[in-house]
Amino acid sequence: MNMEGRSDSPADGPGPADDPARIEALIGEARTLNRTGAAQQALAPALEAAALAEGANDLARSALAAETLADAHYALSAYPEAMAQYLAALEGWRRLGERSGQVRCLQGIASVDIYIGDYAVAIGRLEEALRLLHDGADEAALAAVHHRLGMVYARLGDLARAREFYEASLERRRVLGDRAATAASLNSLGILFLRTGQRRPEGDGDLRRARALFEEAVSIAAEAGDPHLKALAMENVGSAVAELGDLEQAHSLFQAQLAALRAMGSRYDEALCLTNIGEALRKLGRFAEAITPLGDALKIGEELKSKERTMRAWHELSQCQEALGDSRAALESYKQYHRLDRALHSEDAENKARNLVVQLAVKNVRAEADSYRAERDVLAAANVRLSVEAHEDALTGLSNRRHLDANLELLFGQAAADERPLCLAVADIDHFKSINDRHSHAVGDDVLRRVGRILRSACRPSDLAGRYGGEEFVLALLDTTPERARAVCERLRASVVDHAWSTLRPGLEVTISIGLACSAAHASTAELLAAADARLYEAKRAGRNCVR
Ligand code: GH3
Ligand code: MG
Ligand code: MG
Repeated sequence: MNMEGRSDSPADGPGPADDPARIEALIGEARTLNRTGAAQQALAPALEAAALAEGANDLARSALAAETLADAHYALSAYPEAMAQYLAALEGWRRLGERSGQVRCLQGIASVDIYIGDYAVAIGRLEEALRLLHDGADEAALAAVHHRLGMVYARLGDLARAREFYEASLERRRVLGDRAATAASLNSLGILFLRTGQRRPEGDGDLRRARALFEEAVSIAAEAGDPHLKALAMENVGSAVAELGDLEQAHSLFQAQLAALRAMGSRYDEALCLTNIGEALRKLGRFAEAITPLGDALKIGEELKSKERTMRAWHELSQCQEALGDSRAALESYKQYHRLDRALHSEDAENKARNLVVQLAVKNVRAEADSYRAERDVLAAANVRLSVEAHEDALTGLSNRRHLDANLELLFGQAAADERPLCLAVADIDHFKSINDRHSHAVGDDVLRRVGRILRSACRPSDLAGRYGGEEFVLALLDTTPERARAVCERLRASVVDHAWSTLRPGLEVTISIGLACSAAHASTAELLAAADARLYEAKRAGRNCVR
């Protein structure tokens, strides 16, 4: 939803004296209609404004008209049309050097990319928007960018990070008093809790929280006079109600919203609603009845070219067909679902998105320091988590060498200053070269990933665990006595040798050797590392698969 406030007053262009006033009146009318859920009716005045502005060679009003038209198409889920108009408006604002217009258009374009399922592309647009924002503190626009980043993360399955972005955005929007935007943030946050509640068997607490967030969104959207958002939040109340077990009530909530969404012409949300109806019917055991709404949802999803909307409808359909005994149709539907799921969540797309987000985070952190000093703590948590990613080893997700070095130094300093015991373990996979040679480099990489996972689960969240390079790992344990550290290492060694390696490759066996040193006896991290290394060498000489 592009409901961010606009503050620009376009410069006067050439043309008949009454044209600018007429164009502005038309644009104003269209924008009001957009805001109040009547996007279909907004098209005519927006188009007329666009034609008049173009005829008058009035660049600023042309851009504004195109943007208004785009917002209307967007609300009507006409994504190709919305995209074309946003791009035209973006170009206009660029030529005029008007930043806030560019930022709004980039946000609109990013939203279209998200709905279509091009997450990496969406992040690229948001990155551009942030770049433009960095010079001036446009709080509303910043909140909107963060909201969309939350959307991308939510769709990539990183709910914790999505939540941080949504919460940062919600906080800002509440402060700004932008009610429609606040309701949108509440709604999105609710969706996260809905998803975590669905995943966990004892997730009722999350589901009730989701329901409360949706209900707050409903009432704020109503106050803000935004019927579209209200319908959407109401529908989500239905989803929470369904998850909490009252399928009949959920079903009637969905039916009521379906009519409202249809009346507003919001096809994207209509598809969601139809799928929800299908799901509720399926869960009620009314499989045959579910087929029609699901088929309708599919039709809309395909028309809109929305992988997201189509995917869930196929999945539901497949389950209904299976229950009705039509295994062949069910399999076909499942294949369609699976194809879309792969396309949406391919590792490639995720990695691309991840990389972009890392770059973005680094810039964002820098910009925070420059322009948003006062607001920094609101976002600090999100940014710190993101910048951590730049310190991650890509293969294992553990700290990389640079991060390890920096943090070891910090830990060592802390340990020395407060006389706290710090132990350092260096673990090395035994005969790793021959694992590569015998089973392939790809298997070698899998072994590294798994050892990384075992290492992570062997230590506390506060411990520092990283890949130092190649097949060598480092574990730093603060406030840990040598005896305790030795026990941790012994457990780690045993977990590696006992791991079910044959599930990776028949006949595969993996062991590690560990060298352990403690800080009290050493003057620097370099010395501590060297001592642990020397112990590792001893372990290797003693026959490997042991701790020294
Ligand atoms: P030792 O028991 O003495 O440690 O013998 P080793 O074979 O484990 O030790 P060596 O240092 O001779 O070999 C390490 C090998 O690790 C060589 C290198 O090709 C491989 N290696 C380093 N980084 C990676 C990686 O990222 N992936 C894979 N698959 N192999 C790697
Ligand atoms: Mg080795
Ligand atoms: Mg080695």
